Amino acid sequence: MLKCKICGCEFNAVKERHYISRDNGKTGLTAAFGSNPEDKLYDTFDCTACGCQIVAQERKRKYDLRKDKDIVIIK
Ligand SMILES: [Zn+2]
Repeated sequence: MLKCKICGCEFNAVKERHYISRDNGKTGLTAAFGSNPEDKLYDTFDCTACGCQIVAQERKRKYDLRKDKDIVIIK
């Protein structure tokens, strides 16, 4: 169960209401220096009663070893 911090409503974290949100990592100094940090992803639900956004947890990006060229160099 998730509880909305805004209206106090409790609801089930079901797949139909789940979506992934992310931080915009390219603002201010980060953008100025041209570095490219990974955006953070979050498992997110909207409250069924008031519609406010509830961030359940940080979501890790799926990592595919086969696409990583560094692995080939190490071998
Ligand atoms: Zn709510």
